[in-house]
Formats: sequence, structure tokens, C-alpha cells
Amino acid sequence: MENYKKIIKDIYFEVKNVEDFGKVADYIPELLNVSPDNFGINITNINKDSFGVGDFDKKFSIQSVTKIFALTLAYKLEGTKIWERVDVEPSGNPFNSLLQLEADKGKPRNPFINAGAIVVCDVLISHLKNPKEDFLNFCRELSNNENLNYSEKIAQSEKISGFRNIALCNFIKSFGNIKNDVDQVLDFYFHICSIEMSCKELSEIALFLADDNFTTHKGNKVLTMSQAKRINAILLTCGFYDESGEFAFRVGLPGKSGVGGGIVAIHPDKYCIAVWSPKLNVKGNSFKGMLFLEKFTTKTASSIF
Ligand code: GLU
Repeated sequence: MENYKKIIKDIYFEVKNVEDFGKVADYIPELLNVSPDNFGINITNINKDSFGVGDFDKKFSIQSVTKIFALTLAYKLEGTKIWERVDVEPSGNPFNSLLQLEADKGKPRNPFINAGAIVVCDVLISHLKNPKEDFLNFCRELSNNENLNYSEKIAQSEKISGFRNIALCNFIKSFGNIKNDVDQVLDFYFHICSIEMSCKELSEIALFLADDNFTTHKGNKVLTMSQAKRINAILLTCGFYDESGEFAFRVGLPGKSGVGGGIVAIHPDKYCIAVWSPKLNVKGNSFKGMLFLEKFTTKTASSIF
């Protein structure tokens, strides 16, 4: 960890002053209430040593990053049958696209685009007694952190502007790949996207994907090694919308971004690192987040390749 600290600080100051060509996501009105100048980084290694700079302790809306935890829980509960409902191929299309669903008969390309995460939510609803409460408790157990919560404001803001997700869910339902009530699935989806975490919390909660021996504080194993490998593989190929190839090319780590400007990236067997800067590039990924991570894995020679 010691050798990473100076590098992280240096890159933080370098990237902080770079002209930001990004734009804060405005299609969820509530996201606009966040200062675009926030910039934080936190790394946590598998020994649980943690180091952060800038706004590393401020909570933000993790948005699509939540899709990691939804898939993890659904994979645990549904097992390999989950892949009958959602595929594992990059989409090469924007995160909220309806395009491929027609040809693919309502089976989303992967669990990390909106269509796929909505199907994952449907799977979870079929398994969980109190989906919202159970999912939150799962996240709290994963991170040993009772401070995690939904933001009702963000969830409601997305609900009133979520026309695309409403369309996606109904369209998938028309193919029979949504089993529960559409309004319930969407309400659950909007809530799980509204969870708030700081970079510190985000880099801690994802450790189960970095550490083969990870068990929760309650002594539960989260995933088998093979399941963790699969989730990391989908993160590498599908975690950044239609910029997943570019992220692998420039950063070289599995990871996931969200339209709140957060990114978490995982180095299996080493660390998790989370970056937050709300301004997004044209593909919907944090402009400074990507730049920071590119410089970080380059200077520390710590990509997976
Ligand atoms: N809640 C957002 C949506 O469904 C998540 C998008 C994202 O972060 O990629 O539009």
C-alpha cells in the first residue's frame, strides 16, 4: 500500500487540474444537485488497508455500480440458470438501448446494461421475501457497513423520468422474460440504483471480488472462486457500456461505472479502487475517473495484463 500512496496523490493533483470535457448526467434530475467538482479516490487492498484522497469520504449515488451486487445475489440464489435469462456478451450499444432486444427475443446481452439489470431485479424479486430490504441487508453484510442506504429522493427522481427503463421492462415482459409485476420490478430497480456510497465504502464492498478467501463478518462465503471469476470476466468485457473495450485497453482491470460518476475497479488478488468525479464523457463514464485509473495502472504497473 505504501508505494501506492504517493502515486495516488500525485495523479490526483495532476488529474484534478486537467480540463474536464465531461458533463454531469441530467436525465435523472436529482443528480444535477451534486457539485461537478467533486473528485475522490480510495483504494482498499485485500489486507483491508485503505487509503483515500480528495472527496473519498463523501457519499454519492452509485447508480449502475449496484448492478454488480444485484448480479452477485441473483447468481447465488439462481445459480447457473441465471444465464438462461441474461447473456454474457458485450452489447456495443448504449446502456439504455432497446435495439438488440427485438432480435434477441427479450434476452438482454449482459447483466450490466439496464435491460440486463432489470431482468436480474426480476430474478431477485422471485427469490426474496422483501426485495428492497433483503438487498440492502445483503449489501450491508458484504461491506460490514450498516450505514448503507437507498436515497428515496434519487429513486423517486428516476421514477418520474425513467421512460426508457419503463419501456425496456415492458418490452422484455412482452417476450416473457419478466415474471413479476412491471411496476414492482421497476420500483426495485430504481431503488437499488439509488444506493449511496463513498469511494471508501465502494472500494470496501467490492473486496469479495478481489479476495479468493473473502468471507463476510458473519462468516458467509459470498461466491465460489469460479463464480467470482465469471463476474470479473463480465465486468471486464461489459462493465463500461459501449466503452468496455476502451476501458480494458486503457486501464486493464475489471470494473463498473455508474452515471453518478463513480467507478470501481478490481485487481483480483490485490485491491479494489474507487474513483468519483460526476462529469461523464459521451459514453456515460466518468471522464476524470477513467483518466485517473489509466494513469494509476500505468504508473504502478498493476493492470491484470
Ligand atoms: N439508474 C440509471 C438508469 O437506469 C443507471 C444508469 C447507469 O448508471 O448506467 O438509467
